[in-house]
Amino acid sequence: MIEVIPGIYRMPLPLPIPTVSHINTYLVKGDNGYLLVDTGWNTEEAFASLKKQLAELGINGREISRIVVTHAHPDHYGMAGKLKNLFGATLYFHHLEKDVIESRYVNMDELLKEMSLWLKGNGVPPDRLAELQKASLPMLKFVTPAMPDVTLYGGEAITCGDFSFNVLPTPGHAPGHICLYEPDKKILFSGDHILPTITPYVGMNPQSGSNPLGDYLDSINSLKRLDVDLVLPGHEQPFTGLKDRIEGITLHHSLRNAEIMAALGYDSKTAFELTTGITWMHDVNGVGWYKLGTWDKRMALLETLAHLEAMRVKGELEKFTREDILYYRLPQKAKTSE
Ligand SMILES: [Zn+2]
Ligand SMILES: [Zn+2]
Repeated sequence: MIEVIPGIYRMPLPLPIPTVSHINTYLVKGDNGYLLVDTGWNTEEAFASLKKQLAELGINGREISRIVVTHAHPDHYGMAGKLKNLFGATLYFHHLEKDVIESRYVNMDELLKEMSLWLKGNGVPPDRLAELQKASLPMLKFVTPAMPDVTLYGGEAITCGDFSFNVLPTPGHAPGHICLYEPDKKILFSGDHILPTITPYVGMNPQSGSNPLGDYLDSINSLKRLDVDLVLPGHEQPFTGLKDRIEGITLHHSLRNAEIMAALGYDSKTAFELTTGITWMHDVNGVGWYKLGTWDKRMALLETLAHLEAMRVKGELEKFTREDILYYRLPQKAKTSE
C-alpha cells in the first residue's frame, strides 16, 4: 500500500499469472467512505492481500462505499461481485462491459460456439481449434460476476472527497473500457488503456467491435489533449510523460503493421498463417507462435486480426473468402497500377 498523492492509495494485488505479477487497485478517500478503482482476480491470495492493506490503513472494508471497474477483464473485475456483496458497495461500470458479462462469465455456450466458428474462419486448422476455442475457460474461476448498480455511458462526473473524476470512454483494449480523469489534480486512472512499459493488448474477437485497434489508436490519441501530471495505471508503476507514452505505443503498432505486411508480401494469407509467421514477445527477445502458451497463442491470433482489420479499414488491405475461410491480401487495384 502506497499513498501516491494525498487521499489516493495504491494497493497492488497479486495475480496468478507469470507475465504480469500485480494489478493495481486504488483507494480514494471521500467524505462518506472510500471509492475503490478496480478489484483484482477473485483469489484467496488477492483477497488476503486486500484485507491486509486495508488493515494497515485502519480501514474497515465496509467503509468502501463505491467500486468503479475500468473494464470487465478478470484481473480488474474478478473480485467485484464478492466485494460488492461483502461491503455493500455500489458498483459502477460501462454499459458496453455490462453487455458481455452474461455471455462471457455466466452462459458461455454461445460465445464458445461463436469463437470456434470465428477461429475456423480465420484459418485455424482443425487440430488446433479445440485448444484455442477454450483458451479462456481457466479464467472463469477467478470471476464472481455482478452487474453494475450504476451503468456508465461516459461524460459523468464521479465526485469523491477532494476529487471529481470525469468518466472517459476509451475503447480498444475492451469495448467499454473507461479512464477516470481528475482535471484539477491532473491525474488519470488509466486501467489497461495505457501502461508505462507493457503495450496494452488489443485483440479482435466476436465481442470487440469491428475495428478495435482503430478504436484504440483514436482513443489513446484523444488523451493527448488532457493536462496530466501523473498516470495511475492498472499494472506496473504510476508514471509521468503520458504524451510520450502515447507516441511510443502508436509507433509500436505501426511497426507491427509493417511486420505483418512484410509477412504477407504479395500473397493471400489467413490471419492464422500470418500470426504463425511473425515474431511474438519482442520484449523478451521474441519467440515464434508455436512456443507460446495456449492463452498467448489465442491472444496473438486475435491481435494479428485487430491489425489486419485496422489496415483493411484504411484501405491498405482487402479480404476475401475462399471455401469459408477469410484471406487478406494487398488491394488488387493498387497492385496492378504499380
Ligand atoms: Zn484488461
Ligand atoms: Zn489488466
